[in-house]
Amino acid sequence: MGRETLLTLLIVLFGGLVMQPLALLPWRAPIVASPMVAERTAWRRLWLPVLPMLVVGAWLCGWALREPDPVTTRFDHGMIIGASLPFLAVALRAGLRAVWVLLRQPVELPICTVGFLHPRVVFDPHLARTLDDGSIHAALEHERAHARHRDPLRIWLAQWAADLQWPWPWAHRHFQVWLELLEHARDDEARGLGASGTDLAAAVVATARYARNAPRSAFGVFPAGGHAALLGDARALAARVERLLAPLPGPARAHQRSPARDAGALALLLVLLGAVLAWGALFGNDILHPFLLWTWNA
Ligand SMILES: [Zn+2]
Repeated sequence: MGRETLLTLLIVLFGGLVMQPLALLPWRAPIVASPMVAERTAWRRLWLPVLPMLVVGAWLCGWALREPDPVTTRFDHGMIIGASLPFLAVALRAGLRAVWVLLRQPVELPICTVGFLHPRVVFDPHLARTLDDGSIHAALEHERAHARHRDPLRIWLAQWAADLQWPWPWAHRHFQVWLELLEHARDDEARGLGASGTDLAAAVVATARYARNAPRSAFGVFPAGGHAALLGDARALAARVERLLAPLPGPARAHQRSPARDAGALALLLVLLGAVLAWGALFGNDILHPFLLWTWNA
């Protein structure tokens, strides 16, 4: 069997074996005062089952770097392929859905942030004409907060993470909880930068009214990847407006987070994956070779 084919099967097999049990762990929506902290907690919790899969994948990629192509070690092809098939179906489904979000026609949203690496705010001039200056400013601050944190990319990645945890039904619910907290965090960040909660609530309600006849996915129900909208999930509209009309809890600066911290966390993850990849390159065969031989002899 070709090295890359076996590598793919092993990543799917071992990754799935690690991830699926972790997806069963109990998950509670974080109960903390700051939605920014809660959003971060929910984000990490959504990724918790997926991270070990990335570590396993990096280790196997390290192993493959020093493995001859095709693989010369004897192993039972049927056993490896058969055991991988259920996880392969999940990975294929998640990948196709992620690609579909990228390729489909963009949903017509009256105000949203689009673009993964260089996000930009899109504002329908017809909607802008129905809003006063304060509401336009508040809506733009909300979207700029989405752009600063590259939320379109994060939403796309989060949906992929949730899809990898399919078929467990609560994975999608966790994704929705995170999306809701994300909107609250961006609302508070906009207000921390001077936007009025009342103006933002007015903009959100006006957008909901304007988008009433839009396609279902425009309301962020499913799937949400590819853009970060002002509206978010329309089903949570009442609670969101109630939050916006209440005073901002704590000092304004407490609701802002430097995107540099996100870059630091990503750099740390990449260093970890690089170290695991080196480990796999140096000692991967000591573990994998006996496993492959075991499938041959079993
Ligand atoms: Zn938003």
